[in-house]
Amino acid sequence: MSKTQEILRQTESYSASNYHPLDVVLSKGEGVWVWDVDGNKYMDMLAAYSALNQGHRHPKILAAMIEQAERITLTSRAFHNDRMGEFLEKLCKFAGKDKALLMNTGAEAVETAIKAARKWGYKIKGVAEDKAEIITCRGNFHGRTTTIVGFSTEAQYKDGFGPFTPGFVTIPYGDVDALKNAINENTVGFLVEPIQGEGGVIVPPEGYLKEAAVLCKKHNVLFIADEIQTGLGRTGKMFCSDHEGVVPDIYILGKALGGGVYPVSAIACDDDIMGVFHPGDHGSTFGGNPLGSAVGLAALEVLIEEKLPEKAAELGSYFMDELRKIDSPHVDHVRGKGLMIGVVIKESSGTARPFCEKLREEGILAKETHHQVIRFAPPLVITKEEIDWALERIKRVLLFR
Ligand SMILES: *Cc1c(COP(=O)(O)O)cnc(C)c1O
Repeated sequence: MSKTQEILRQTESYSASNYHPLDVVLSKGEGVWVWDVDGNKYMDMLAAYSALNQGHRHPKILAAMIEQAERITLTSRAFHNDRMGEFLEKLCKFAGKDKALLMNTGAEAVETAIKAARKWGYKIKGVAEDKAEIITCRGNFHGRTTTIVGFSTEAQYKDGFGPFTPGFVTIPYGDVDALKNAINENTVGFLVEPIQGEGGVIVPPEGYLKEAAVLCKKHNVLFIADEIQTGLGRTGKMFCSDHEGVVPDIYILGKALGGGVYPVSAIACDDDIMGVFHPGDHGSTFGGNPLGSAVGLAALEVLIEEKLPEKAAELGSYFMDELRKIDSPHVDHVRGKGLMIGVVIKESSGTARPFCEKLREEGILAKETHHQVIRFAPPLVITKEEIDWALERIKRVLLFR
């Protein structure tokens, strides 16, 4: 039995079956490359759903983590630590906001944004008690807590997990009129992904974010951008909202904020919103810990120093153009922005899954999303030569299957 087989057997014996991973067991990573336990090398085209924008084991981020781990890792927020302030300052300047609040996972940051928006609604906007509504979009993905799956439109995400938190309204994604019609006196926020990642790399019509933001401003509704996946350079700008010159009232960040080594998430907003939180209102044992702060600081510095958003813009449009040139009978179309790219497989060619399995055999790790879409979202540190290497293999899979 190969090492892979052995570990798969062990894992399957003891793991909950809440994932359906490809049959590959990874044991080492560096930059855009990963190796499995049998010594096979692959290019990582998923990048942990964009949590690895800076690549596997980025030396600067790793050094920051190790250096910090040798001093102090966790204090809890019962005490101050000497790293959180520094990270917050960097993050706030980076996002152009007065304040930031640190959590760990993306879902926690989304929950934090929901709490902030609701409390802002009651304390500032003047919404009647327990009447606050947050508008969300069909096809959304904001995480897996019971509140968040409650406003998912994906049946499987909700099945068996009710009853759900009230106060959420669903509208079609990309439809400004639907937003206009859904806003009422109780609306406190519009929670939206600038591109729907898990929903299948859905890029909304041009101008959508801008118009939605203007509408929100007009009706005193918070525009809350879940940039957990689209933010931090992925789409070719630091934030995907930047493509339309939109400054959300609340940014939700996660994934690559932890530099691929440690969970770090946050919301960033101005004082008029963050000011609703008082001691005891909200918290997290690990949120804002010195280890996470050191890592987050290095993660942001790497994005800026290595101009990763600019790289994503340039290499992303090259990659997408080349993908579009592949005249495959299986491909319906290619869509995306920057290095967040979806190749949509025609239903007549089956689902995207077998294509991902074939890509694995060719040395590329990619994951299907929403049945029909192969997602290509490599670490942003990828080079043009590496993209060409990948294109050669992607071509083989798309043309000769
Ligand atoms: C991944 C993701 C989340 C959830 O983040 P977790 O760290 O898995 O909790 C929320 N929103 C978006 C857009 C995401 O891509």
